[in-house]
Amino acid sequence: MKIVVLMKQVPDTYGERILDPSTGLVDRSGSDAVIDEIDERALEVALSYKDAHKDVEVVVVSMGSTAVTVGLRKGLAMGADSAVHVLDSALAGADVGWTSTVLAAALTTTGFDLVIAGNESTDGGGGVVPAMVAERLGVPHVTYLESVQISDDGVVGERSTGRGKLRVHAALPAVISITERLPEARFPKFKGIMSAKKKPFTVASLGDLGIDPAVTFAGVGRSVVLQTTKRPARASGKKIVDEGNAGVELADFLVAGHLL
Ligand SMILES: Cc1cc2nc3c(=O)[nH]c(=O)nc-3n(C[C@H](O)[C@H](O)[C@H](O)COP(=O)(O)OP(=O)(O)OC[C@H]3O[C@@H](n4cnc5c(N)ncnc54)[C@H](O)[C@@H]3O)c2cc1C
Repeated sequence: MKIVVLMKQVPDTYGERILDPSTGLVDRSGSDAVIDEIDERALEVALSYKDAHKDVEVVVVSMGSTAVTVGLRKGLAMGADSAVHVLDSALAGADVGWTSTVLAAALTTTGFDLVIAGNESTDGGGGVVPAMVAERLGVPHVTYLESVQISDDGVVGERSTGRGKLRVHAALPAVISITERLPEARFPKFKGIMSAKKKPFTVASLGDLGIDPAVTFAGVGRSVVLQTTKRPARASGKKIVDEGNAGVELADFLVAGHLL
């Protein structure tokens, strides 16, 4: 079985995340670029299955800038068998439509039985790329899974709704996305770090994937950030001392803030 894990490079959530107001894009110089933690958990799902099934091949795929290399190498060090980095300057500012088109083309090139993605990235946060990729590939998708059981012919998992839990199933080939309820990723071991250097690492341009942006994206709308506004600095809180009228003061405060 071939499992492909989609891994997105994002600004480190522990650093300051800054938008460039002139372009609407992330100012990546403001923080370290890391692979999104949710995607490392997605890789852990794949590697745990591979631990118990030696015939499983795990491929990590990312579309992003040159900084993605470090994250993909980490994926190889954790235990993935090969990596594909989609790198092309024409992809700067790609929206979810372009991103899903390109990832679907990459997956067509790698081949797959199961694709595992995070449910939602920590920067764009659209939460739609896995479903869009599945639609483009014409395969079933079960998203926002809190548990995953993989077998030779299908994948089963649980997904929460506002009122309870759904147990869902898809036959392979399929795309799934997982939530933070799935276990944290393992740390790469020294042996893994050394062997990662010898594992296949493909850098693919749009041309390599059979995509001519002038043709594929011609007439296809792309959403663009028009304006960004910096979040106002956090103001100091209001302290209410109870002198017999704290309830009224609290209620007034909440009403003034449109919180009641
Ligand atoms: C500052 C900023 C500016 C942006 N500007 C625009 C803009 O002008 N127009 C616009 O429409 N969009 C814009 N985006 C959105 C950006 O292009 C999206 O982040 C990207 O298309 C993926 O969408 P998402 O992060 O919402 O994916 P989600 O659907 O939240 O991602 C879910 C999962 O899909 C997979 N995935 C997503 N992207 C990738 C990837 N590149 N490689 C591998 N796996 C991936 C991962 O497994 C991820 O966990 C901007 C984002 C930011 C942060």
